Amino acid sequence: MSRIVYVNGEYLPEEDAKISVFDRGFLMADAVYEVTSIIDGKMLDFAGHATRLVRSLDEIDMKAPCTIEELESIHREMMARNNLTEGLIYLQVSRGAADRDFAFPVGVEPSLVLFTQAKNIVDSPFVKTGMKVISIPDIRWGRRDIKTVQLLAPSLGKMAAKAAGADDAWLVEDGYVTEGTSNNAYIVQQDGTIVTRDLSHDILSGITRAAVLRYAAEAQIKVEERPFTIEEAKAAKEAFVTSATTFVGPVVEIDNARIGDGQVGETAKRLREIYISESLKTAI
Ligand code: PMP
Repeated sequence: MSRIVYVNGEYLPEEDAKISVFDRGFLMADAVYEVTSIIDGKMLDFAGHATRLVRSLDEIDMKAPCTIEELESIHREMMARNNLTEGLIYLQVSRGAADRDFAFPVGVEPSLVLFTQAKNIVDSPFVKTGMKVISIPDIRWGRRDIKTVQLLAPSLGKMAAKAAGADDAWLVEDGYVTEGTSNNAYIVQQDGTIVTRDLSHDILSGITRAAVLRYAAEAQIKVEERPFTIEEAKAAKEAFVTSATTFVGPVVEIDNARIGDGQVGETAKRLREIYISESLKTAI
């Protein structure tokens, strides 16, 4: 059965959902996006994703395609039309279609596209086994805090991980881990302290990161926001990643070295449970 895709005001069967070849998202990666998770037919932290979208748009002087209220109702309509109870909604805003030019076009309306992906996100296979990561150089641009669709570098990173028999890659710059290819990265020190890189232009300010750090503080777990090295990660008690669709994903191996006893860590397990149950309370 074909999905219903939203394109600039229309709900269309996916076969009929089309964007111009002149769209700047296609030609220049001049587009930003958000991914919102759905559990039990409800959106997790829609407000967080909407706020970050507005910030991404502002940072690159891109016009908002509609209001947040309109965006929320389009999300709801997409869930209803696609009978989506678990999975994700992908949203992309591009600067629109215009003759190819590096300078931004004047008077062009942004393009808005949404589609759904049904997926088991609660019972992910990584929950029991944990994931293996490799470390690779971070070759991305300097404004990783803006959620743009320039995803070739992370794509190459995932492929490098796959070729090495791993599940994902952690990106390293100037000797320190920035984040994962599509997630924020954390270690748990032997004393139980969680360490994750501080926010800056170097990493994406994860919506899941913000929630998990809040829940960790509420659970009296000490958190340090600072850069850490791969050596520290290898000597850690645990490691994990967070993202909207992974929630809290345990990491059990880095560059073929086991983290702790190589099993899913207690902190990651606990934070994952807290994250899912707490997020569901405020899901809409
Ligand atoms: N960092 C990067 C590079 C990402 O692509 C993502 C996922 N979009 C994240 C972090 C996690 O962000 P969020 O928790 O908002 O999904």
